[in-house]
Amino acid sequence: MAVGDAPRTPRRAAAPLRTAAWRGLRREIERCERCPLAGTRTHAVVYRGGERPTVVWIGEAPGRAEDLAGRPFVGASGRRLDRAIADLGLGPEEFGIVNLVKCRPPANRLPRASVVACRPYLERQLHLLDPRFVITLGRHALSELVPGAGPITRVAGCELVWNGRPLVPLLHPAAILHNPVLAPRWADDLRRLGRVLDRVLRQTL
Ligand code: SF4
Repeated sequence: MAVGDAPRTPRRAAAPLRTAAWRGLRREIERCERCPLAGTRTHAVVYRGGERPTVVWIGEAPGRAEDLAGRPFVGASGRRLDRAIADLGLGPEEFGIVNLVKCRPPANRLPRASVVACRPYLERQLHLLDPRFVITLGRHALSELVPGAGPITRVAGCELVWNGRPLVPLLHPAAILHNPVLAPRWADDLRRLGRVLDRVLRQTL
């Protein structure tokens, strides 16, 4: 979809967030003690977005603002992400946001063991949400979803495949905040993403 264009997505019958399976999964995550991050979290951070998302964004882990709010991407990175979502023309019901890891890692360093321990929750979320299109944010989310895809700096903005559906990796919004020289690359990747999204969503009408 060209940046700024209105979305064209048909509605689906099921509303995953209203199912008993989703509510049970949320409760399980909120009580989870599978890894040491359970001991330092304020809130487990499960999901933000619509009940029938066409597009699911996958980040890495909650930061401080997310840990306090219990919602993904609500800090400075989230504001950048929300601008990108608006520029792509995705309405509030058309996207969802999840993370690889549901609890905040101390010092924002992502422990590999926690990624592994938390992976089944991500799988179950994606199974229930069943998005048509997936976007990963940052190198960790990319390497988890498409192992062997190559360095994020090389493939950001390119169309890849995950479980038979299109996936486009992007740099993590936090990387743009920490390194503003990457802002033009971010904008360019978003334009490429918009074109892929437009083509894919038109094909499914
Ligand atoms: S990060 Fe995932 S596996 Fe670890 S305690 Fe939180 S929900 Fe459980």
